[in-house]
Amino acid sequence: MSNPQNKNIIILKKTKLGEMDLILSMLDDEGNQIRGVAKAARKPGNKRYGAKIEPFTIASAQIYKGKTLDNITQIKAIETNAKLRDDYVKSAYCYLACEFVDKVSSLTSISTTSFEMLSAYFSLMHETNDDSATLLTAAFILKLSSILGFMPLLKACSICGKEFSCLDELDTKVALYFDIVAGGLVCQQCHDKWVDLQNESDDERLARLRMSNPDTQNLPIKYNMKTMSQSFASWINSLIHSTFSQLVESSCDISNNLLHFSVMWASEHFGINLKSYVYLKEIIQ
Ligand SMILES: [Zn+2]
Repeated sequence: MSNPQNKNIIILKKTKLGEMDLILSMLDDEGNQIRGVAKAARKPGNKRYGAKIEPFTIASAQIYKGKTLDNITQIKAIETNAKLRDDYVKSAYCYLACEFVDKVSSLTSISTTSFEMLSAYFSLMHETNDDSATLLTAAFILKLSSILGFMPLLKACSICGKEFSCLDELDTKVALYFDIVAGGLVCQQCHDKWVDLQNESDDERLARLRMSNPDTQNLPIKYNMKTMSQSFASWINSLIHSTFSQLVESSCDISNNLLHFSVMWASEHFGINLKSYVYLKEIIQ
């Protein structure tokens, strides 16, 4: 057996293994996912682990590297976040955040700040009401997506690159278009070209593709532009750039829509399906 490593970890998920064991999915403080076995954790009367191996727990763990799964031999809780698990609404939010981290960290190492971000998220979730819990969770998903290279583009057209004037100065009467696939706001011109493409006949499409007009080559049909209000776009900007504490202080009457947007954004760009969101929606609506 190799030498053990001591790591600070956050428990994201636990899964049953065999008769007595558990597999813990964890995020370490370097942003890597660790999947480790807690042996005999489900054995009746085993008090060795307790709350230390529940989701949302922040702990220091001794881990032996294995071939496919690692082994957890010791675990010492730093913060169990037990109150979050006892509150079924708050726990539904936290499960969504953890499922997101679990799924993206299984694809790639997800930066050292993710550990601090998730810890900060838990600690603020203790204090929040339902509205700010929604906003905080939306912010968590969008912030982490942005750190990992998928930040919604709000300052320029995400198709042609034309810069917009500052978001705050945009005339509220001007319709904004947003496309999740393209990755952000879309200018009026690109939007109008896209609408034309939707309406063209098969013959027209064939003729256009034969001509290879460079103007329309970068407008795939799969785009799905939606109008977006200026205040919604400003809120997306705030979710990414404001601190969690600032967001907890602010009041927002579209937090459910913003959370929906964040989940759709993450699902599209990471190719993941966040099942906890289905459960959360049932609770909060
Ligand atoms: Zn454009």
